[in-house]
Amino acid sequence: MSKKITIAIDGFSSTGKSTVAKQLAKALEYIYVDSGAMYRAVTLFAMQNGLISNDSFDKANLVKQLKDITISFEYNPVKGVAEVYLNGINVESDIRTLEVSNFVSHIAEISEVRKKLVEQQQQFGKNKGVVMDGRDIGTVVFPDAELKIFMTASAETRAQRRFEELKTKGDSANFSSVLKNIQKRDSIDTNRDDSPLAQAEDAILFDNSNLSVEQQFEALLQLAKEAILKIS
Ligand code: C5P
Repeated sequence: MSKKITIAIDGFSSTGKSTVAKQLAKALEYIYVDSGAMYRAVTLFAMQNGLISNDSFDKANLVKQLKDITISFEYNPVKGVAEVYLNGINVESDIRTLEVSNFVSHIAEISEVRKKLVEQQQQFGKNKGVVMDGRDIGTVVFPDAELKIFMTASAETRAQRRFEELKTKGDSANFSSVLKNIQKRDSIDTNRDDSPLAQAEDAILFDNSNLSVEQQFEALLQLAKEAILKIS
C-alpha cells in the first residue's frame, strides 16, 4: 500500500480550494478538512451570542468564551461530504452567508482563536492522509506537508463563482457586494500580523482562472500521485 501524505491547499478567497480538496480527498481516500469552516463557525458563535453588532465587537468576551466552543465535523452520507458542527449543531449552511463572510476575517485575526483552531487542525492531520484547505496550512499548520498548493485566480473570476454559488442556494447577495467582500477579505487575510495568507516557499503556484473544475482536479491529482511516489 502506498504511504499517505499531507496535502495543504492555500490561497485567496473563493479560488475553488475546497472543491478540489474534496475531490482529491475522495480520490485518494483521505480526510478532508475545511479550515475556513472552523473560523466561520467561531464567527457564527460570536454573532449568536451578541458579541458582534453593526458597530462593535466584543473581542475580550469572545476570547473568554473560546473554551465554550466545540467544533467538529461529521460525515453526511447523503451529500458525501463532512459537515461542520458548532457545539453539536449542524451549521454547514449558516456559516456560508454573506454576513458571516463579512466578519470572519476579523475573527481570524485574533491570535487566541488561531491558536485553538490550529491545534485542532494539527490533531486532524497527525496520521497524515489529509487534505486541508485554508490560508496558513502550508506555512503554519503543516509546514512539512509533502504537497503544498497555492491557488489563485482573478478577483472577478472568483467573485463570479461565489456569486453563482450563493444564487444557487437562494441567497439574494448581489455581485458587487460579493466582489467587495472577496477583495476585503483578501486584504485583511494578507496583511494581518498572525499567520498572514502567504505562499509557502515550497508551494506550487496554481492559477485556475482558465481551467475547468475537471482540468484542475486532474492536474492536482497528478501532482499528488507524484508526491506520494516520491516518499513510497
Ligand atoms: O476558506 P473560507 O473562505 O471559508 O475562509 C473564511 C475566512 O477564514 C478567510 O477569509 C480567512 O479570514 C479565515 N481563514 C484563515 N485561516 C485559514 C482558513 C480560513 O484565516 N486556515
